[in-house]
Amino acid sequence: MSCTASGVADALRAAAAVVAEHRVELIELDRAIGDGDHGENMNRGFTAIVSALDTAVPETPGAVLKLAATTLISKVGGAAGPLYGTAFLRASTAVGSELDTAAVVAGLRAALEGVQARGKAVEGDKTMVDALIPAVAAAEQAAGTEGADIAAVLSAAADAAAKGAESTVDLVARKGRASYLGERSAGHLDPGARSTALLLGSFARAAR
Ligand SMILES: [Mg+2]
Repeated sequence: MSCTASGVADALRAAAAVVAEHRVELIELDRAIGDGDHGENMNRGFTAIVSALDTAVPETPGAVLKLAATTLISKVGGAAGPLYGTAFLRASTAVGSELDTAAVVAGLRAALEGVQARGKAVEGDKTMVDALIPAVAAAEQAAGTEGADIAAVLSAAADAAAKGAESTVDLVARKGRASYLGERSAGHLDPGARSTALLLGSFARAAR
């Protein structure tokens, strides 16, 4: 089973709805340890993606992901635009025209590598990487099991991302604006890890 371009577009529309629903939560998480712009930035970016898709849905899954990437890069400021833009751009290149289970895993792996190349964050820095690393590992493991389809792989990734995001609560930030707070950043959920978990959760539900 593979996913069509319109399937990817539907998943992005569903993600935009989830981002809108969690806009205030993301604002409040970022206000606690950052500058409070994450919810607004993500909502602006995903609203722009939906507008772009309403104009025209590109022909391949990779091209749809690339449209999402270029939209996020051009519309979203702060750290989130370039990081998520890079994630979607790398995923688009890895995925190409056929989005099957292996391509989903390759896309997730490429997204993680792009985020790390761009942001220089490693595991434990209290960033979106703390959600993405376990998500990619879980996706790769799930893909190796008998009969795993896209929904199974994305569900495993989403569950691992949610746990990874939760794990950022106890961490002291070593990257981004939250790192200026030092020890005081502990005790708060990282907004980027939370938005990563929300996106993967919505992609998993869309795939199911
Ligand atoms: Mg911010």
